[in-house]
Amino acid sequence: MELRDLTALELGAAIKKGEVSTVEASRAALDTIAAQDKALNAFITVTGERTLERAEKLQTGAREAESPLYGVPMAIKDNICTRGIKTSCASKILGDFAPPYDAAVVERLARAGAVSLGKLNMDEFAMGSTSETSYYGPVRNPWDLERVPGGSSGGGAAAVAAGLGWYAVGSDTGGSIRQPASYCGVTGIKPTYGTVSRYGLIAYASSLDQIGPLCRDAADCAAVLDVLMGHDRRDSTSLPGLDSGWKGSGPRVDYGHLLAGLTGDIRGLRIGLPGDCFGDGLDGETRSAVLAAADVLNSRGAEIAPLPFPALKYAVPAYYIIAAAEASSNLSRYDGVKYGWRAGEYEGLAELYRKTRTQGFGAEVKRRILLGTFALSSGYFDAYYKKALQVKAVIKDAFDRAFQRCDLLITPVAPAAAPQLGESLSDPLSMYLSDIYTVPANLAGLPALSMPCGFDGRGLPIGAQLVGPCFGEGTLLNAAHAFQQETDYHKRAPKGGKPA
Ligand code: GLN
Repeated sequence: MELRDLTALELGAAIKKGEVSTVEASRAALDTIAAQDKALNAFITVTGERTLERAEKLQTGAREAESPLYGVPMAIKDNICTRGIKTSCASKILGDFAPPYDAAVVERLARAGAVSLGKLNMDEFAMGSTSETSYYGPVRNPWDLERVPGGSSGGGAAAVAAGLGWYAVGSDTGGSIRQPASYCGVTGIKPTYGTVSRYGLIAYASSLDQIGPLCRDAADCAAVLDVLMGHDRRDSTSLPGLDSGWKGSGPRVDYGHLLAGLTGDIRGLRIGLPGDCFGDGLDGETRSAVLAAADVLNSRGAEIAPLPFPALKYAVPAYYIIAAAEASSNLSRYDGVKYGWRAGEYEGLAELYRKTRTQGFGAEVKRRILLGTFALSSGYFDAYYKKALQVKAVIKDAFDRAFQRCDLLITPVAPAAAPQLGESLSDPLSMYLSDIYTVPANLAGLPALSMPCGFDGRGLPIGAQLVGPCFGEGTLLNAAHAFQQETDYHKRAPKGGKPA
């Protein structure tokens, strides 16, 4: 068996036993990147020497390592700050930005003995569903190089699917972990809002953004989430009570045990099947694959109950108002003065701003800034932004009601498998609409997971989504684990990017 066929946990175990050295593992990943990433463009920065130095340093402690991920090579989305390493958000405007600090998740990963291979390509500022809006060129889907890998964490999904590293850390504002996971046949989870620190995550829409892992399977996701989750006082939306030693009031969630909780026993689990997610606009093969996944969970002892979710139709418009509004505010800091790229020639301050932003941002980012500024402007604020917040409350309420009747929901991740490169760029509105199944979980702050559940007739991966109530990560991961004990979709690997 080749190293790249191992899961992150299997590789971690082999490193601990001394069967594989940390340097061998990193070298293998760097070799695969060198061989394949010209075609995939999954990485913006590969840290080569630095990666090997770190791996070498870690080797001495390998046998005593506590973390099951010690020494395992991984990669980080380029909107997560890494000290001294370019963090561009796939934008020209941050093209020369090397942060002076590490994001909280990068610190946590370092403590767990992670070895970073570099920074992953993505949609510019995480705005997009195809990873084509990157200043560094589009990422390609390893299952078919003429197709997109999904977005915005497309680099991470493509890298994990093609074996360029054992897991990736991405971010999800409206589906950016789950949808690329689905298009590339890997498993990804967006955790409950507030459980993973956003300190050092470059903000897109702060009330929706969450960091999470993209992995080979649910067990790897549990292990990575165990590392990522925890309270951080530097993020004002980080929930207290996430660490074992916490003694305050409010919910106490001990996240040291996600991995230990993967028993695969889902007898009696109540799974809701929202009929509204299986209606018009859903591709037939995707529908069949997701319904078949529900049957597999049923065969393991879960009960499947159809339920209505009529609020679904309001989710995309509300999401795009809120996300754009927050983006227009968050991105106002890129002005050519404080940090980042600055236009070469200008006369006066106003022209410095104008030229820097005009030349520094791509078309999709500008579209969102304009949309958001419009939605927040006086006279339109009540009609758009306030209305969108009301819809957000309606969606949260719909989930609350659903979770009185069931423990989790199963839905498609996307209306169809990965589209052709270029197809979505000309029609942004239909790209926005394709986020219909993923954005509700962000609006409600809920955990949601994407797992491979089949392939379409062209050999492209299809994903099923599981959505849970707040702090339901353990339930979602255990259900996905049970599914992966029965199926092998997550084990299949792309063969050189040629359609089947
Ligand atoms: N496709 C969605 C958007 O463009 C979601 C992106 C994300 O989750 N970062 O906003």
